[in-house]
Amino acid sequence: AKLLGKNRIHVFEKSLETKVIKNHQLENDLRLALQNHEITMVYHPIVDASTLNMVGAEILLRWQHPTEGLIMPTDFIPIAESAQLILEIGYWTIEKACEQILKWQDSTKANFFIAVNLSVVQIRDKNFLDKITDLIYKYKIPRNFLEFEVTESILLSESERSIEIINQLKLMGIKLSIDDFGTGYSSFDYIRKLPLDKIKVDKSFIQDIPHDSNSVTIVKTILNMANEMNLEVVAEGVETAAQIKFLRKHNCQFFQGFYFSKPKPVDIIQQQFKL
Ligand code: C2E
Ligand code: CA
Ligand code: CA
Ligand code: CA
Repeated sequence: AKLLGKNRIHVFEKSLETKVIKNHQLENDLRLALQNHEITMVYHPIVDASTLNMVGAEILLRWQHPTEGLIMPTDFIPIAESAQLILEIGYWTIEKACEQILKWQDSTKANFFIAVNLSVVQIRDKNFLDKITDLIYKYKIPRNFLEFEVTESILLSESERSIEIINQLKLMGIKLSIDDFGTGYSSFDYIRKLPLDKIKVDKSFIQDIPHDSNSVTIVKTILNMANEMNLEVVAEGVETAAQIKFLRKHNCQFFQGFYFSKPKPVDIIQQQFKL
């Protein structure tokens, strides 16, 4: 047993070391990835629960690495955050969102909102509000068509300043939604403290409805509370007709998930939804 334990530690240390070296390489690669057009965006439609028509989309990032292949955001966003590269990537993403909002309004007369995920590192950037103001003036988008998705980490660090920034964004007319709702330690604390428009119920809860009674109770409770607080609810990770039936019955207004579409490049989404 002693030997096994020792080996385990050894294996663990080695894989950790490999990971550190690898992340360091990826960080260097990431510095060039934007210029080299290796970072791309996919759009994940959000549909209205009653009509199932697309009403908006969330932008999700992909990194097509020249040798490592496709890298998912869960693997490179943390690296981008620790290297502060998320600032450049983030502003680029928000600018692209503004461009696409205008394109959709011109070409399809479809008033789709676009949701962008925000990292806490972006909110901490002292130039954040100025940059967002500049972008909004540059593109003259109807402000309520831009939406920011924030997670609980926003409140965990420097909460007062973060809340102030969030309040300013809200005053600018930008929509705010809370992402991965229910997964954190203080989910109720932020719906109390932040001027939110929407709650995105985490897919881990949606996944097990309607068969798991605990998930059913949690989702019903979130929906009741949101309705009473006039918050809109998006169910994330919708994959089955049974989930849709349940969520409709309990007045969930929006759905997002592989049942409707996987996240795809915008031109493919447009074909798929005949826009
Ligand atoms: P998220 O914002 O919670 O995004 C939802 C994730 O769940 C996406 O994974 C999406 O592809 C996946 N998903 C959506 N519907 C379904 C479904 O029906 N079934 C299943 N199995 N999965 C579904 P993805 O694209 O890998 O993104 C992972 C996370 O990376 C995002 O979680 C978000 O936190 C982060 N991320 C992505 N793009 C950005 C970005 O531009 N900025 C920042 N800061 N974070 C980003
Ligand atoms: Ca999100
Ligand atoms: Ca989410
Ligand atoms: Ca997530």
